[in-house]
Amino acid sequence: MSKLRIAIQKSGRLSEDSLKLLKDCSIKFPKGKNKLIAESTNFPAEILYLRDDDIPQYVENGIADVGILGENVVEEVQKAIRVDKKLGFSKCRLSLAVPKDVDYQGVQYFNSKKIATSYPVLTEQYLAKHNVKADIEYISGSVEIAPSIGLASGICDLVSTGGTLLSNGLKEVEIILKSEAVIISNPNLAPDKQALLNKLLFRVETTLKAKNYKYILLNAPNEKLDKIIDILPGMKSPTVLPLARGKWSSVHSVVNENDFWNVIDLLRENGAEGILVVPIEKMVL
Ligand code: ATP
Ligand code: ZN
Repeated sequence: MSKLRIAIQKSGRLSEDSLKLLKDCSIKFPKGKNKLIAESTNFPAEILYLRDDDIPQYVENGIADVGILGENVVEEVQKAIRVDKKLGFSKCRLSLAVPKDVDYQGVQYFNSKKIATSYPVLTEQYLAKHNVKADIEYISGSVEIAPSIGLASGICDLVSTGGTLLSNGLKEVEIILKSEAVIISNPNLAPDKQALLNKLLFRVETTLKAKNYKYILLNAPNEKLDKIIDILPGMKSPTVLPLARGKWSSVHSVVNENDFWNVIDLLRENGAEGILVVPIEKMVL
């Protein structure tokens, strides 16, 4: 029987969340730090541990079927691969930054300047779009020190909180790309492998959806039930069960994380009591 080969980052910012995602999909792998390949004990899959930059090429040439990595790398390396799903972790942006005392007026600042980056393709594309001609200096790491050592007038690098830029005396001036982790796959998978990928994607969707919702239980006086049911969106409509004593009911529903606090405030204003909120592990709709 064929196995789905899933490439993930061996060690770095993506590793832990990639493993956690597979775990949440109930796909188990034996632990072993120095392994390059491991076989799942309960799903027809093998995991390949690679440098994130190598993952697109492995997926393109079919050594791996599926990969988990940042969109920033996917966009930079431009391989013939398919992006199947955004995963919501490892969020960051690829940005241009300059020394913080520069009087920056716009992207034209970079005309004829030197920019240090590990993302020459995306940097070049962005500059070309804005008719800027700069001199791009490729360096593979520690890009943020380039201006202070006189190597470049600006940089193009990944930013999440901006703390690294700040501590190197830089400020973010243009966002080139917003990125998060994605699942990619080879576009020409054999049907049996495609079926396994579909199974994996279904599990991923089920897990990710659940993360955005909470299960909510509350007690409501019966005379306020109509109002409270209107407040709760739910998947269909809320479940209402009578309490053993008094003119009260227990109401159960599912609430989206985004309007969660609004809903809670409205419920309390309308007489709800004993509100319990519980995480949902999986959501199959
Ligand atoms: P490797 O040894 O696998 O090549 P790396 O040094 O290129 O590792 P990491 O620093 O582990 O990579 O980052 C991996 C990915 O994590 C990035 O490509 C990006 O998608 C994401 N990421 C999220 N936030 C940040 C950040 N603040 N800085 C860098 N990468 C980030
Ligand atoms: Zn890398």
